[in-house]
Amino acid sequence: MSQISRHIHINGIVQGVGFRPFIYNLALEHNLKGWVCNSASGVDIEVTGEIEIVNSFQNEIMLSAPPLAQIDSIEAEDIEFRGFEMFKIVPSQDTDSDFIPVSPDVSICGQCQEELFDPDDRRFRYPFINCTNCGPRFSIIKKIPYDRPKTTMAEFEMCEACREEYENPRDRRFHAQPVACPVCGPQVWLELEPGKIHANKETAIQEARQMLKAGKILAVKGLGGFHLVCDSTSSEAVENLRDRKRRPAKPFALMGFNLEAIRKFVHISPTAETLLISPQAPIVLMPKRPDSSISESVAPGQANLGFMLPYTPLHLLLLKKEAGYPEALVMTSGNISEEPVIHENEIAREKLAGIADGFLMHDRPIHMRIDDSVYTVNNNEPYPVRRARGYAPNPIRLKQPLPQILAVGPQMKNTFCLTRDRYAFLSHYIGEMENWETYQDYTKAVQQYESLFRINPEAIGYDLHPDYLTTRYALERSTAENLPHYAVQHHHAHLAACMIENGVAPEEPTAGLIFDGTGYGPDGTIWGGEVLLGNCRDFNRLFHLKPVPLPGSEASIRKPARMALSTLWAYGVPWEPNLAPLQALSNMERETLQVQLDKAVNTPLTSSMGRLFDAVSALIGVRQEVSYEAQAAIELEALADPNELGYYPTQMDNEVIDVKPLLEGILKDLSKGTTVPIIAARFHNSIAELCLKLARLLKQQHDIHQIVLSGGVWQNQLLLRKTTNLFNNHGFHALVHRQTPPNDGCVAFGQAMIAAYRYMHDKE
Ligand SMILES: [Zn+2]
Ligand SMILES: [Zn+2]
Ligand SMILES: [Zn+2]
Repeated sequence: MSQISRHIHINGIVQGVGFRPFIYNLALEHNLKGWVCNSASGVDIEVTGEIEIVNSFQNEIMLSAPPLAQIDSIEAEDIEFRGFEMFKIVPSQDTDSDFIPVSPDVSICGQCQEELFDPDDRRFRYPFINCTNCGPRFSIIKKIPYDRPKTTMAEFEMCEACREEYENPRDRRFHAQPVACPVCGPQVWLELEPGKIHANKETAIQEARQMLKAGKILAVKGLGGFHLVCDSTSSEAVENLRDRKRRPAKPFALMGFNLEAIRKFVHISPTAETLLISPQAPIVLMPKRPDSSISESVAPGQANLGFMLPYTPLHLLLLKKEAGYPEALVMTSGNISEEPVIHENEIAREKLAGIADGFLMHDRPIHMRIDDSVYTVNNNEPYPVRRARGYAPNPIRLKQPLPQILAVGPQMKNTFCLTRDRYAFLSHYIGEMENWETYQDYTKAVQQYESLFRINPEAIGYDLHPDYLTTRYALERSTAENLPHYAVQHHHAHLAACMIENGVAPEEPTAGLIFDGTGYGPDGTIWGGEVLLGNCRDFNRLFHLKPVPLPGSEASIRKPARMALSTLWAYGVPWEPNLAPLQALSNMERETLQVQLDKAVNTPLTSSMGRLFDAVSALIGVRQEVSYEAQAAIELEALADPNELGYYPTQMDNEVIDVKPLLEGILKDLSKGTTVPIIAARFHNSIAELCLKLARLLKQQHDIHQIVLSGGVWQNQLLLRKTTNLFNNHGFHALVHRQTPPNDGCVAFGQAMIAAYRYMHDKE
């Protein structure tokens, strides 16, 4: 039999996912000799054996790779014969320009869960149990290649028992970088006064549970940062947390011990269940049960509750079922106002002292803080709302290789994006770029991604808005590094993001209904109710909502009552004295508003669909003032009667969408005493019908059948369902987001695509 030698190179997520032991065992099964090693660009293998066996070995790699691995490519080449004596795992190699994707953090696996609660296991009730198939990854990695000395676990020296597992290719913990045990690994403790240890290890966990049971608020250090935690069934505890956190209404996320516990509070669809139990373990928004015992204060005015499963051993220990113990805990980000989630013990002590009654901390440092991801379900498909832990920094795969581009992202719900080869590394959710803390966190994260993935941007994409912090950052860098830079219109970025993630070719003219809150238009007005036709280089604005004044800018975003009156004013509809928004304002506010509108003082114009939802919410008396983004629209959606089919007309005035008949229809219904749920439903139906009307115009004028739906308004599940149903029934195809959120979480990705294609065009 003739023996050959072959070199195999594998690209993709193949480090920190048990890939080398998998290869090792596969080689032993095939009786092949050679070696495997991690390189900075993937995994390299050399084997010697009979040709059929080498071929079958290579096929098996593809067919039975470990669950967390993602193979992007396998390159194989027969080489000069090598007479190996055995099969070995050899140390990592590193060359400067190579790179590989880094695994996101992974929720605790089934085997580790079993060991955690097995009294005979040496890691019984150890809060940092993990293995090759689970545990922290991205949040603890400082540098690549992914090896223990380059993680925050470097400071813990392995005990003999752990080292044996770590070095045994037959063991589940072979080269599991965060491997640890009660003897050698990180520990938890409880502080009641910042800086003073009150209890250690198991006692700390037991006391923390007692405190939660007694209605106290705890700051708990998790995987990507701190959570603020309390009993979700105690209104007193939840309201206490709201008071101390100064967060009057924005919903809190919840964690239940297992699916059975969560099922008591919400309806779990099969897709939602798949998401909950996935290794990513995101927060999933699900319809709440009417008889749920979760406090109303957890998510006031909402039809949904956001639940996740315990994704670390510490969470499991904290939630473990016991008679009389809360079945679900509030688990909200440990931060103050819109600052980034806190991930360092010292800063938690300082900033959360006024909020938490105690701190459950540990000594495993978090290198990259990362929030929980949020998903919902649309048409039996996962629909992202916030992309962070578990998903980032997994890249979005591209059909074409791209140059190295940095897109700095938008102002709100910021993420940034870096491209290289066929990958777009869309960052985890950074947050609202409005304060110094977030900006610091942002620049640090950009550096970390550039260094991890070895990207030196050749060009920069940024938002058209001149005053954004990200715009300043982009322009400073492009000057300092002499890089070409591309200003990208916000809604064009939405269009490009949704196109590319749906596999549309970058040059293909594509239409999009971009219904959003705020985005700077090239004409200096605020866009957000736009029908665009474009590709990854250019676009045209085909239709848009009639611009209405936004008196006092932010003031009208905070007070939908002002928006309602301004909208009526713009359409020449008189303010009847009994209007809910009129009654919600003081005499002085009304007069100021009137003057602002009449004299056009501080009244930028906006064509935003988000603002139209605000206006209608106020007009029918749902919400006059908001304490968090989109509150008015969310409450309007929650109240809408899903069985109502009526709708109000809208009309087109060339490229302008005129909603005067819709407003008049609502006022007429109000005067007849039609109920709020009916009017709210009719309004949603009207916007869906408007979408169908726009689709028909696009078909007539441009022969277009598939239409992108992007922008924050498309988080509205009722509107999305009604619109996609109408499209399906009339031969149109909606392209909806799957990998990036419809909200501004997708904008950096779109910016990167547009900047990349413009840059490549300029270079030609
Ligand atoms: Zn595990
Ligand atoms: Zn150990
Ligand atoms: Zn947007």
